[in-house]
Amino acid sequence: MKLSTQLLIDGQFVTGDGQAEPILNPATGELLASVPEASFEQVNRAVNGAQRAFAQWSRTTPASRSTLLLRLADAIERHAEEFAALESLNCGKPYLAVLNDELPAVVDCFRFFAGAARCLQGPLAGEYIEGHTSMIRRDPIGVVGSIAPWNYPLMMAAWKMAPVLAAGNTVVLKPSEQTPLTALRLAELASELFPRGVINIVCGRGESVGAPLVEHPLVRMVSLTGDIATGQKILQSAARTMKRTHLELGGKAPVIIFDDADLEAVVAGIRTFGFYNAGQDCTAACRIYAQKGIYDKLVADLGSAVSTLKMGLQDDPTTELGPLVYAAHRDRVAGFVERARAESHLEIVTGGKLGAGPGYFFEPTLIAGARQSDEIVQKEVFGPVVSITPVDDFEQAIAFANDSEYGLASSIWTQDVSKAMAGAAALQYGCTWINTHFMLTSEMPHGGMKQSGYGKDMSMYGLEEYTCARHVMVKW
Ligand code: NAD
Repeated sequence: MKLSTQLLIDGQFVTGDGQAEPILNPATGELLASVPEASFEQVNRAVNGAQRAFAQWSRTTPASRSTLLLRLADAIERHAEEFAALESLNCGKPYLAVLNDELPAVVDCFRFFAGAARCLQGPLAGEYIEGHTSMIRRDPIGVVGSIAPWNYPLMMAAWKMAPVLAAGNTVVLKPSEQTPLTALRLAELASELFPRGVINIVCGRGESVGAPLVEHPLVRMVSLTGDIATGQKILQSAARTMKRTHLELGGKAPVIIFDDADLEAVVAGIRTFGFYNAGQDCTAACRIYAQKGIYDKLVADLGSAVSTLKMGLQDDPTTELGPLVYAAHRDRVAGFVERARAESHLEIVTGGKLGAGPGYFFEPTLIAGARQSDEIVQKEVFGPVVSITPVDDFEQAIAFANDSEYGLASSIWTQDVSKAMAGAAALQYGCTWINTHFMLTSEMPHGGMKQSGYGKDMSMYGLEEYTCARHVMVKW
């Protein structure tokens, strides 16, 4: 397979002038490609190109932007197998999971925003002062600098590009330095459709490429999906030029299981939603609070179920769990588990060890007996590690769930609709699922509260975030 390694800057494919970044296959540690990162000057050229393109692109009709987004969706769909192969190579994900789960969601994201571009709404024009007609415009903001993480590289590129373009902005996207391959291939398809400069892709590390993008005075908005610490740096930097920011940061999703929950459904749900993408998911069902009547049985049944998850290589159709994305991240995850093992009240029910072989595998791990103050309960692991804490009742479950700096996603498992609704109302999370977890859809917003950030991805809310509401008043 031919790997694209060139950046897309102002309509030209160019080799980065900066340091070469090795791109590895996490399942084997082998070198796949080397992607030279953008230099400071190349970031500047990308932003200037996007600024020039904005003048025309921002005046295109929603219908014409919609047409191009639909064509891009079609092109991705036609190349779905190639994208899935690239993504699974670069991230270690099982190929079939990328093809069957991620690619349809990526295509749907572009299609949703193609439709949404034509459906922006606002209050009625009217005479709110006598003799004056007021109306609202929703206009694009300008050049958006979009910075993506490594866990779902193509999907994050879609979430970052589709609403930005639909609203009439231009974009400079920086994928994660570890996982740029699908975004670079996407650049090739997009460059055949979109006018010069509307879409730019620059690769490289956060400090050398991301930071100059954030600081650039012509970038009017910065969108980040990443770590809380990165969000904080971006906020500080954006303050200097008063940029808008759209931050989607980490998560540590609480999963509240009441005594009356359907145990079989809970076990099947957490086996899937706690370990999908090797747990490298900001909504992963990783922090369980189980009521004491169901706790022991849940620990036993979930332990057995998790121990059957099959780790393996990308192209094995029976693989359920791939490796972690790079060696240092695998070691970080292992560090959490080692520190948990040293605590006498914690029990490693299953897993807890590095996988065999040269890849960055870590066994799916379940840790029981966790206390609210434990590191494993409070900190985001971002790996295949789930903790279970016993709770007495509804009040304690909600209080423990909300006792977190994170506020992205949560779930409640019960047969009692009143308890479910009362819990959903009390939880301080951007999303609460009832009797499921992890399910996202293009029509609904995804985004956090508290230190998980703000800014919604997907949905009409996501589109509105990349526009500015403006008031136009006419005196008769
Ligand atoms: P990260 O913050 O290290 O990196 C994210 C991106 O930011 C990368 O492209 C990186 O190069 C860039 N970056 C780093 N420092 C920067 C700087 N100073 N200036 C500009 N850009 C900079 O995060 P990661 O390790 O790639 O991803 C994992 C994190 O992302 C986890 O915390 C996870 O929860 C979070 N995440 C959140 C969501 C969500 O929707 N809320 C989704 C996926 C991942």
